[in-house]
Amino acid sequence: MPTIDALAERLSQHFEPSQINLVKRAYYYAEQAHEGQYRKSGEPYVQHPLAVANLLAELGLDHETLAAAMLHDVIEDTGIPKSAIVRQFGETVAHLVDGVSKLTKVEDRTRAERQADNYFKMIRATSTDLRVIVVKLADRLHNMRTLDAMKKSKQREKAEETLQVFAPWARALGIHTIYTELEDLSFRALHPMRARYIEEAIRKRRGGETELLNDVAQRVSSALERRGIPARVQHREKHLYSIYRKMRDKQRAFNDIMDMFAFRIITDTEDNCYRALGVVHSLFRPRWERFKDYIAIPKRNGYQSLHTTTVYRRELHLEFQIRTEEMDRVANTGVAAHWMYKGGDSTLARNQLEKVEQWVKNLLEMREGTDDTVEFIDYVKQDLSQDEIFVFTPKNKVIELPAGATPIDFAYAIHTDVGNRCFAARVNNTRVPLTSELKSGSTVEIITSPSAHPHADWLNHVVTGKARTALRQYFRKQAREVGRALLDKHLKELGLSLETINEAQMQKVLQHNNLESVEQMFTDLGEGRRMPYVLASQLAADQTQAAPSETPATQDTVIRGTEGRAYRLASCCHPIPGDIIVGVDGPENQLIVHRTQCQKVRRTVGRGHFLDLYWDKQAVGEFAVAIVVRVEMQRGILADVANAVAKAEAHVETVTIKDHPGGISDITVVMRVSGRPHFARVLRRLRRLKPVISIHRQ
Ligand code: MN
Repeated sequence: MPTIDALAERLSQHFEPSQINLVKRAYYYAEQAHEGQYRKSGEPYVQHPLAVANLLAELGLDHETLAAAMLHDVIEDTGIPKSAIVRQFGETVAHLVDGVSKLTKVEDRTRAERQADNYFKMIRATSTDLRVIVVKLADRLHNMRTLDAMKKSKQREKAEETLQVFAPWARALGIHTIYTELEDLSFRALHPMRARYIEEAIRKRRGGETELLNDVAQRVSSALERRGIPARVQHREKHLYSIYRKMRDKQRAFNDIMDMFAFRIITDTEDNCYRALGVVHSLFRPRWERFKDYIAIPKRNGYQSLHTTTVYRRELHLEFQIRTEEMDRVANTGVAAHWMYKGGDSTLARNQLEKVEQWVKNLLEMREGTDDTVEFIDYVKQDLSQDEIFVFTPKNKVIELPAGATPIDFAYAIHTDVGNRCFAARVNNTRVPLTSELKSGSTVEIITSPSAHPHADWLNHVVTGKARTALRQYFRKQAREVGRALLDKHLKELGLSLETINEAQMQKVLQHNNLESVEQMFTDLGEGRRMPYVLASQLAADQTQAAPSETPATQDTVIRGTEGRAYRLASCCHPIPGDIIVGVDGPENQLIVHRTQCQKVRRTVGRGHFLDLYWDKQAVGEFAVAIVVRVEMQRGILADVANAVAKAEAHVETVTIKDHPGGISDITVVMRVSGRPHFARVLRRLRRLKPVISIHRQ
């Protein structure tokens, strides 16, 4: 059983006595705090934090992180407050412990909530001190290593969560050792048979090719030695889950994807990496299309190496990764390298930390740009799982973007103003649509124009948080200005202006319309969610006059404010409960209920008579609503769309389809929903369909 003395002994090689003391004190504190608590396996609880600290010590982390690891479950499991930790161990350690506790709390929530929250909490935690995440990941790794003590169902649940949340984070932070082990442990728990099969296949194959492996390592080593390049040559094995993922995603058999042996060459300097590359290419014929220079252009998580693939014999390839010792350490430990006692805080480690912190900051900005948590999670996932592409400015500056990025993303990556004034794009000197997908290695030129401005549709064609946030901000600001101008214009028609409206009257109207602020009123007006005419007349009304009273509905209890007149829902804009609505005079004194943003209403502004209407809170029933789903045409898409609607328990009335050139089609669906929340559920399902490009309400 591991002991604190064994750990202290190991630490004594690198740490100051006072630092070791801090770690020891933390251990004894945890031992006391967890007194009488046991793990599922039957061990005293303190063995768990000790194991987590050991893991982090192996990674090479500093004494503060190790102390925090010892204490990581104290706040959550023993009720000792943060303030006590501050007094005993100082602000930094307490801050780390507190951060980890907050992440742990999330694990106790319901599943759906937990998943969404986990991401955001982890991002928030990282934005202050990334070590919080590093401790949390080590915590999860130890729990995964000791998964056997849990019930089978719990094992599966933990494994799934690990694959979805923790492994991607370890990968994003570049902590390769933790990331690969988390994936393999989860894979074994979820698919024990498949894991055993692949392991067995690897073992057999390695046995059958010992000669080849030795031959390659031998030839490379002696060639490097002849050129005076100091280096280690290692045979490298891919981890189980990455092999499985390849087999699954590419639908290939084990032997098909194992057409390659991987080696790693570790040398001393960057120069020698390139020289070693020359040596490898003189021994084996390179496949140039597979060459990647991650030294010149590091990956988003800071990873650096040269990658090359060469031909050994027909159908058998050799892959080489070439890097320095320092790059190797950063590749294995990621951001953790920054806090390492041995050679930590090097330029390389610092650059990596900056890079990751910038990325985390971008994610946080993105969170602020979106109100929808589900949407946000999608973006985080995308950001984590997508490969990067590298494109160039006309001046050959490298811009890094997620795969799937468009010239619009590129423009916003340069500068928000370039994005907002972006008019056209040239890729490798050829004009392309702003919405086309960029390819790695292209040179992209953005043509701006002072009169150009963003289109609402662009939101459907960006993948970076930066572009998305900038666009949202732009549209919000624009809507506010438009709304303000509209309202002022209508007030002027009544002989008033915004300046002449007194505060009390303004507040009364805001309250009556359930508006939080004047700004929100402008935004709503600008986005067509409210009628300027209606608000202007309310603002102009005598201050003593009471706000329009609720009229009892006659027809049924669905709509209020009809003054007792008969009404029907307009078939042009299909209002549903939750929409902002107005009544327009129809034939035979009937009211036609439209959404305020309906084109017909807009055309009649200033001519007809409008009545401000409200949905009854208890409005129940099925209401028709129409949407246009723009899709990439492919087999079965119509059925998929109809199916998604039906799965969300909405009744489909009609479906029509209109094809456009270029494999794009518009599918118009009229369906029945109970209101906006139900409608939102339908839309969410539809958005999950891959071929769906955009969805508009009719
Ligand atoms: Mn723990």
